[in-house]
Amino acid sequence: MKLLGILGGMSWTSTAEYYRLLNEEVAAQQGGLHSARLLLHSVDFEEVAILQRTGEWDAAGALLADAARGLERVGAQGLIIATNTMHRVADTIQTAVDIPLLHIADATGERIRAAGLTRVGLLATAFTMEQAFYTGRLEENYGLGVMVPEADERAETHRIIFDELCKNDVRPASRATYRRIMAGLVQRGAQAIILGCTEIMLLVGQDDVTVPVFDTTRIHVEAAVQWMLEEESTPPA
Ligand code: GLU
Repeated sequence: MKLLGILGGMSWTSTAEYYRLLNEEVAAQQGGLHSARLLLHSVDFEEVAILQRTGEWDAAGALLADAARGLERVGAQGLIIATNTMHRVADTIQTAVDIPLLHIADATGERIRAAGLTRVGLLATAFTMEQAFYTGRLEENYGLGVMVPEADERAETHRIIFDELCKNDVRPASRATYRRIMAGLVQRGAQAIILGCTEIMLLVGQDDVTVPVFDTTRIHVEAAVQWMLEEESTPPA
């Protein structure tokens, strides 16, 4: 099994889910007492969140690139960033290391394309919903039409992530809000909903909307475990 490096702590509530799901998935596939071979660099999220709010993406990229180099140095053979939003700086991180970065939007885009769906609604942070790094990748590389909620709903979706879910505060009223927002996207034509923020699965899931849900946390974990358990390619003789 390959050794996976995780850039986590963004926030810790979703990284805890990654840890649980990675181990559950390895155990499901390998049985016995098998568990995931992992290295975790968990950041202080307040530092990263300030850089997000002030738009200092280069500084955020440098911080995570440094952490990625550290994981590579101590033996990680591949990396995941356990947040959709910080894929804003995925290229900076990939450039800093010689090991592969398993991109969350690629894992998600492949899964949606395989399901034969083309028009999807996205719930995520404002950064992910409003900047092109994520929706553009899904549109250009996977042929998807990505719809986002209206402006006031985007603001509320974002607020619930940072004020509640990143602090492990899961509220029924916010679940009702997300249900309403997802129903609105379905009414506008979404054939599926992407839970495009790794904490959203703490609040809602497949039972909360009538169309298929694509949970990026779970999808990213499954792609990572598939990579971890693949045969390592032998270099040519
Ligand atoms: N974990 C969240 C995401 O998947 C939000 C936290 C962050 O801004 O990194 O986007």
